[in-house]
Amino acid sequence: MDDKYGASADHQTSTSLVTRVRLTEDSGPATTTRTKVGEDDVTGVTCEEEEEAFFDLFSLPRELRDEIYDHSLEFKRKFASQHSARLRGRRVAELSPQLAGQQFRKEYLERAERESCLVIVDRDHFHGELLTLPQTMKFTRKLELHVALACDEPDHALGRCRVIPELRMHRKWIANLSEQMKYLDSVKINVYMDPHNLVNDCEQNLLNEQHRFSNLADLTSVEIFQSGYFVGDKNPGTPWNFSKPRRLVMKLSPLNGNVQRVCDVDAAAEKDAT
Ligand SMILES: [Zn+2]
Repeated sequence: MDDKYGASADHQTSTSLVTRVRLTEDSGPATTTRTKVGEDDVTGVTCEEEEEAFFDLFSLPRELRDEIYDHSLEFKRKFASQHSARLRGRRVAELSPQLAGQQFRKEYLERAERESCLVIVDRDHFHGELLTLPQTMKFTRKLELHVALACDEPDHALGRCRVIPELRMHRKWIANLSEQMKYLDSVKINVYMDPHNLVNDCEQNLLNEQHRFSNLADLTSVEIFQSGYFVGDKNPGTPWNFSKPRRLVMKLSPLNGNVQRVCDVDAAAEKDAT
């Protein structure tokens, strides 16, 4: 029967294939065939000597084993885009390490549950349609979002700012996705605003409407950046590029849970420390 990570019970063997690593350079796979103690095998090596040729992973302290598990997680897994939003899994459990024995599998999955993160990147065509959580990320505890609050100056000339409707739109799909993630305990939101002459007005509107983000359950971080992310037609994939240089202008204050300008958050933290 398939379990929650997609590994079949048939594949779970009590003998570890990975944890018993042959240290000598001679060829051939690490064998799990054992002879009785004292009994010579065809190579003339006794079982006791053979035992010494293996490295027992579980003789290492748990912290070191955890490092090995972390390196065995898939660094980045791509999922199909939804409504142009890009979905990625970071540090996702792979199937093959789960076949390496029950204890290895148990500890490996514990690390995966702790480290795995669903990363979603907003795109120019995405306008807040609800997203479906990929099945393999169902037990994920961390969510990281990269979204744009796009506002053009002409909107301001007409007395309107796009930041307010965009913020409400993002709130809707983020809240819906959070509800789908039953084990969620950390939400990190990075917001990008393209700098222009009236960006201060946009930022003030964001501060006024910030509860759309700041009252989300499990919120751990909100950072607002000014970034020239709009690259237009130069990029064939999308006119938005969130890896452009950016400047942090506002963030969530750990003291009051509000989004504030960086200088205000830092000044309050300094005052709190004295
Ligand atoms: Zn604006």
